[in-house]
Amino acid sequence: MYSEISKVFEITEEVSKSVIAKNTVHTDKYAEWPEEGIRALQQAGLGGLTIPLEFGGMGHGTETLAKVCEIIGQSCASTSICYGMHCVGSAVIASKVTDFQQDNYLTPICEGRHITSLSLSELGSGSHFYLPRTKMTNTHNGDYIIEGEKSFATNGGRADSYVVSAVTEETNQPTGKFNCIIVPGNSEGIEWGPAWAGLGLRGNSSRNLSLNKVAVSEEHILGNEGDQIWYIFNVITPYFLTAIAGAYLGLARAVIEEVKSHIMKRTFSFNGKSIASSSVTQHQVGCLWAKYARTRALLYWATQCYDNGIEGSQLDLFSAKAEIADTVIDIVNEGMTLCGGSAYREDSNLNRMMRDARAAHIMSPTTDMLRVWTGRSILEQPLLTDT
Ligand SMILES: Cc1cc2nc3c(=O)[nH]c(=O)nc-3n(C[C@H](O)[C@H](O)[C@H](O)COP(=O)(O)OP(=O)(O)OC[C@H]3O[C@@H](n4cnc5c(N)ncnc54)[C@H](O)[C@@H]3O)c2cc1C
Repeated sequence: MYSEISKVFEITEEVSKSVIAKNTVHTDKYAEWPEEGIRALQQAGLGGLTIPLEFGGMGHGTETLAKVCEIIGQSCASTSICYGMHCVGSAVIASKVTDFQQDNYLTPICEGRHITSLSLSELGSGSHFYLPRTKMTNTHNGDYIIEGEKSFATNGGRADSYVVSAVTEETNQPTGKFNCIIVPGNSEGIEWGPAWAGLGLRGNSSRNLSLNKVAVSEEHILGNEGDQIWYIFNVITPYFLTAIAGAYLGLARAVIEEVKSHIMKRTFSFNGKSIASSSVTQHQVGCLWAKYARTRALLYWATQCYDNGIEGSQLDLFSAKAEIADTVIDIVNEGMTLCGGSAYREDSNLNRMMRDARAAHIMSPTTDMLRVWTGRSILEQPLLTDT
């Protein structure tokens, strides 16, 4: 629809400013899924952002995904992550799509009629999302029965489908060997845990999902049984890291704008001077910008290399998400200090931003894991050995 990349960014800016931003405070206060913003993004034609052109999508890779999530993240981190997880799920479905999956999932996604999401995490394996214990059993009559407990499924209860990971009962599968299946959101046997009441990202609806003998036809299996290690490193990880990194880069920029706005207005009556005129404050703001700018450069360098198939670019993607998590938390911490007592108020924007930022490290692959994976890659060690 929007063949030129600049048009994609323009339309995202427009939706962010006119729809998403006005709901940010409400979304956080009431922990409500950002319905209006997500629907506006779909209506603007951005539902199929990461789906290749030949399947009816917009054909964009990780660089555009990062930028779109950055723009949305400047207005609302929750909305950015909800939309980002939809894009990651879409990319996973598209990567080895069948005719059935095209008709029932990709086409509705591209037409803005379907939201998907990724549900890999489980309590039992935590951040080791590649070690699911959810089981899928082949009934040998064309169906699989899925049983297990998923945790933190973003867009939980609100998406039309979920890309879920599971292991087959028949085999004692090695690390990383599992299957991805599309589970329709209205399947019988799906049960949602309590409403999401997170410290931050309160609009995410990241809920626990019980799969109680959910039957799905074999047409819902993505790729070949057991080939999911390919999905982890070729689709899930790069798209996931990019969406999250983009969202948090946007949040970091929003923090700087918030800090700027406060400092520009803060004037002392005893000398009539603005703290913006203090060289210490100027220096501190300069440091914030440098942190933001260097992680932005790393993210767009990494995504450009990745999209162009440059060997080794995954390492830069790993580091980009880890660095952005460090940076956004650092920037918001410094921003809190720079804005003094007013930032410490319960209803300050920085309060929300600080809570949203805190989840950056633990969205798996976590910062710790990404550092370890990077080290392992450099040292030529297997990535997923111990846990
Ligand atoms: C707001 C939110 C939204 C989410 N959305 C989704 C979603 O849409 N889909 C989804 O599948 N999941 C989602 N998750 C889950 C997320 O990706 C993680 O899986 C989850 O937060 C891990 O939590 P845990 O308490 O089990 O962490 P744990 O696994 O207990 O880890 C705790 C800490 O220990 C560290 N650690 C553990 N093992 C290692 C190791 N081997 N090496 C180094 N460090 C290690 C971790 O880095 C982490 O910092 C979401 C989580 C949150 C908070």
